[in-house]
Amino acid sequence: MIRVLDIIEDTMVDGTGLRTSIYAAGCAHRCPGCHNPQSWDFGAGRLMSTEEIMDIIKADPFADVTFSGGDPMYQADGFAELAAAIKRDTDKTIWCYTGFTFEELLADETKHRLLSLIDVLVDGQFVLSLRNLDLPFRGSSNQRIIDVPQSMRERRAVSYLL
Ligand code: SF4
Repeated sequence: MIRVLDIIEDTMVDGTGLRTSIYAAGCAHRCPGCHNPQSWDFGAGRLMSTEEIMDIIKADPFADVTFSGGDPMYQADGFAELAAAIKRDTDKTIWCYTGFTFEELLADETKHRLLSLIDVLVDGQFVLSLRNLDLPFRGSSNQRIIDVPQSMRERRAVSYLL
């Protein structure tokens, strides 16, 4: 089960192409200037099963998938189950936004499983002093767009080429 704040279909701002974005409830990073402070509440939204979310994802044959929030990494087990179902039942790519860094996720046993199922990771907290509205798909220049399979092979963060 995942506590979901919202699901937005056919968005074009959370990664390349059309995407179904799953917004996780809850975030403890509390970045000053966060675009969505109402997403910090771990009790917000509603609990949804993998099957319920998969029905929405599979109903759109053209959209890939993005996990955002809040921070999906605080519900790493639930999102890992969902990511595994997406990889098993579809050929859709998965982007994931998180306030943790790639290196922190690599070192965390629970979050590592979810990381290994993601195609593209947008990592790091939003830093107000580094805000740049011209950057595609991220809010501040410290945040990286990472090719996860390549980075896992090389054990270092490798940029995803847009
Ligand atoms: S990680 Fe994202 S959702 Fe969480 S506080 Fe920072 S900007 Fe907001």
